[in-house]
Amino acid sequence: MSKVMIIGAGGVSNVTTQKCGLNPDVFSEILLASRTESKCKEIAARTKIPVHTAKVDADDANEVAALIKDFKPKLVINLALPYQDLAIMDGCLKTGVDYLDTANYEPKDEAKFCYKWQWDYQERFAKAGLMALLGCGFDPGVTNIYCAYAQKHHYDEINYIDIFDCNAGSHGKAFATNFNPEINIREITQRGKFWEDGQWKETDPLSVHFDFDYPTIGPKDSYLMYHEELESLVKNINGLKRIRFWMTFGQEYLTHLRVLQNVGMTRIDPVMYEGKEIVPLQFLKAVLPDPGSLAEGYTGKTCIGCVFKGKKAGKDVSRYIYNICDHAQCHTEVHAQAISYTTGVPAMIGAMMMLKNTWRGKGVFNVEQFNPDPFMEQLNIHGLPWIDTEYHATL
Ligand code: NDP
Repeated sequence: MSKVMIIGAGGVSNVTTQKCGLNPDVFSEILLASRTESKCKEIAARTKIPVHTAKVDADDANEVAALIKDFKPKLVINLALPYQDLAIMDGCLKTGVDYLDTANYEPKDEAKFCYKWQWDYQERFAKAGLMALLGCGFDPGVTNIYCAYAQKHHYDEINYIDIFDCNAGSHGKAFATNFNPEINIREITQRGKFWEDGQWKETDPLSVHFDFDYPTIGPKDSYLMYHEELESLVKNINGLKRIRFWMTFGQEYLTHLRVLQNVGMTRIDPVMYEGKEIVPLQFLKAVLPDPGSLAEGYTGKTCIGCVFKGKKAGKDVSRYIYNICDHAQCHTEVHAQAISYTTGVPAMIGAMMMLKNTWRGKGVFNVEQFNPDPFMEQLNIHGLPWIDTEYHATL
């Protein structure tokens, strides 16, 4: 049984904290620290093991380190924003504690999604005998683990991977994002990018799309986007010729996004307003619905998974591994919508893998570098069952 410290008290943290509380054989006590302590207290009240709360500015590694020193957790689970990743990793290094997150570091002034900054911590974590596990949500996270599982059980070489992320849910709002609006909009408005024949190829934002037929949901227009797991999978999967990432968007969402972009509301550079600098995208976040508040009344399902094509013993093999998650069921279980749920549960399982030493190493790791089997087993137990089937359509 171990103490963990969780940083951030948003939609994902709400799920991870409660799920840790449902596994008292692994998690004995939690310190939940965030910018707004009242949000930590709300989550604590729903959690079944003792949760202490604190206020922290996680941009400050010394504040993070001071809390760690005081509480002495075995692991810090970072569920704040990608901007805080490096400061929290520094706090862990200062105090000799392991680290886990669900999204790679981004500088505030540039929407740049790459692991370089965090991979650069490899030597420091290895020297300190510590482990950092990066990107342990659903995508990145479970999608990477599906790839590792396919590589281990179905293929000698995987040549083609297409990751499909569909949210066919309805929250009844004209425009809202399912996780932090600032991070979400930065990600979606960047140029598309995929990897083919040894090089990265770019496309205009959301310019490439087609109808993919999602199991139980049906055909949905799916848009090619860059997503961070592509970068580590290109390094860690054998025989890859092409890897792409696709996400569904409704027309209503895209129309709102286009208008917001056209009027400058998605800009991330500061503008002067009444003598004060403001960042338009941060202001937009303040007026959009809190993703956590979408959970009540959210209907429909998500379907996220990977389609693989490759070879085993000289024969062509095509498979599809995916999960279907129901928004309303997530609300009944932990007051969350499915996007927070599908991210928060893998973060809890990743923490479990580290605390039980099922996954162990010195340095900085992406999840596909470990044995996928124990993680896949836990997904079935903790609410994210998966289907592994043949797949024969041409992509
Ligand atoms: P939210 O915006 O709901 O929550 C973020 C939390 O971090 C808030 O409680 C916020 O505080 C807190 N926070 C922000 N800045 C600081 C700071 N400087 N110090 C301390 N706390 C801070 O986001 P989500 O819960 O939706 O997402 C959490 C993370 O999960 C993000 O990094 C996101 O990118 C990632 N994610 C990953 C996915 C995956 O599949 N891998 C999918 C979805 C999300 P306050 O409450 O005061 O605003």
